[in-house]
This record gives sequence, C-alpha cells and structure tokens, in this order.
Amino acid sequence: MNREELDKLVKYQIITDAFDYQELDPDIVEKYKYFEDKFNELLAEKANQFKLKDCHFVIKNHSYCNAFARTVKGYNIIGITTGYTIQMHNIFDQKNIIHILLIALMGDQQLSHAYADLYNLENFELNKFMLNCSIQFTFSHEFRHILQFNSSKISVDYYRNENLDHSTFEMKKHAWEFDADRMASFEVMKYIFKMKRKYQVNDDNIFKCMLYTGLGSIFITKVFFYFRFETSKLDLNKIDFYTKKYSHPHPIVRMFNIIDYFYDNITDFFPKLEVTKQDFLNNALGIIKLYFFYYQPNRNIIAEILNDIDNHLNEINDYNEELFEFAINDTAIVNLLNASGTNFH
Ligand SMILES: [Zn+2]
Repeated sequence: MNREELDKLVKYQIITDAFDYQELDPDIVEKYKYFEDKFNELLAEKANQFKLKDCHFVIKNHSYCNAFARTVKGYNIIGITTGYTIQMHNIFDQKNIIHILLIALMGDQQLSHAYADLYNLENFELNKFMLNCSIQFTFSHEFRHILQFNSSKISVDYYRNENLDHSTFEMKKHAWEFDADRMASFEVMKYIFKMKRKYQVNDDNIFKCMLYTGLGSIFITKVFFYFRFETSKLDLNKIDFYTKKYSHPHPIVRMFNIIDYFYDNITDFFPKLEVTKQDFLNNALGIIKLYFFYYQPNRNIIAEILNDIDNHLNEINDYNEELFEFAINDTAIVNLLNASGTNFH
C-alpha cells in the first residue's frame, strides 16, 4: 500500500496503529518488505479471483505474534503484527535449526536421506520454503475469513484475530476456524505441488519430506499464534484440552483437522504415494519437537501433546466431525462452497 492510500485509511479509521518500517535499518526494512510483498502479491491474486474490491494489507505495531481479518465500512483488511513478522523470520531463518532438523529427523534411514536430498536440491532453500508455507497458510486462513464475512447474510463489520481469547465461545466461530484451516491447508498443498514441479521433484520420499515440512511449518505457526508469543518472551503455557470453549478450537483439534484434510487430498491426488495419517502426525510432531526443543530445552512439549492426544483422541475426532456438520450447514460457508463448486457431502 502506498503512503497516500495508507493515510486515507488511517484518516477514515479503517486502520489504526499501522506500522511504518521505512525509516528503520536497511536489514530490518528488508525483512518487513519480504512479508509485505508476499502478502500483497497473494492478496492481489485472490481479490482478483474472487472479485473483491477494496482489499488492503497492513502491518500492525504489536509485539504479540498475531494475524487478523477485518471488514469495516466496506473495506477488507488483512493484517499481521510486527511480532508475527519477527518471530516467523527468526524461526524459519535459523540455519542451525535446519541442520538439527536434518540430522535428527526420524530414525527412518530412507527419509533421513530424502531430507538431505531435499536440503541439497539446487537453488532450493528449505528454510525459505517453510517460511513461505507459513505465510501461505496465514494469508489463506485470513483471506478465508474475509470471504466468510462477505458471504454472510448479516452486513456488519467483522473482525477475527488468531490469538486465543478465553472470554467467548460461539460454535459458529469455531466452525469458521475449522473451515479457514481447511482452505488454508489446501492452499499450502497447492504451493507444495508448485514447488515440486518447479524443482522437478520426482522422488516420492523427497516429496513426502516436502509435505511433512510444509505441515510442520503450519503447526509451528499455529503454536506461535496460540501461546501469544511476544518477541521478548518465550513462555509456552500448555492449554488444557477443551472442546466447546473459548474463541478458537483447541490446537490439537485443529491439528487433527488439518492432518485429515492433508491426508484426504494427498491420497486423492497421489494415490500411489502410500502415506498414512500416522506418518503425517509423526513427522509433523517430530518437526515441532525439534523447533521447540531449541526454545525450551527443559520441557518435553511433544510428550505433553502426545499425552493429550492419548487421553482425548475420541473427543478430538468427535468434535471435528461435529464442526464439519455445523460448517456444512452454516449459510456463509455453504454459499462459499457452492460458489466454488466444492462437493462437500
Ligand atoms: Zn482464524
């Protein structure tokens, strides 16, 4: 967005506390610009595809890692915080972590080789690939909220952000998150397919590694949103399992929804790939484990997650089914699915 447009939107109070990074150090400017260019590019493409007018992207000055979607006075705004930009940039730019990832990933000999092969693909940058998967997911999730707002019968101003709010629960909001996660996962899969073609990846194991790292990148992003990571603080407080509570479904419920959707689509598109839901879960959790070990070496985050999965597996699956049923009967979502010709029964 240029200065003039930004000033106009601030003046009309469409945007508050917009962040202007132009005067900062050149290396910081470069980081912000990377995110801004990517989000703007994706927004222009999708706004055009869905014929949506007055769409804008904004970076908000806030230390929490967060993203949001808003329709206000006819404008459609997608935003991220400065906290998101810094956290995502740091976590996906840790060359050390990438090395740990390659060395430590799984006991599976074949797969370890495949990760090494992926890492060594000519001109391919694994950390950039993961960062782009994260951006693709965040953008597509927020854009889906914009579409949900616009296809709702009630014409009011809407706002959704991705930090967990303990004060409210609404089934509809959980269902909208469920739907936004599925659509965003689909866009990440499309991005991975595009990269598979671009780098001419014909080996099934390398392709699997691309899918696992893509999925891992979605989960890492989600954990950061969830635990309200601040740039200065890296506490990770586990949230006890719940179903019908709070502003968003529990992270584990969402992870299972995303894995289910990945699995259904991948087995549809690539029936010969021979990948199971358990493979997706194990590998994505393996990636989370490595990343968070770096941040909190004294805690076994993965054991805590696995424990919750063990104790609540039926509830997780039942609640996702309930969300699916609710979603396919929600007017805004039904309108979107019909418009896109998606067969959802
Ligand atoms: Zn959301």
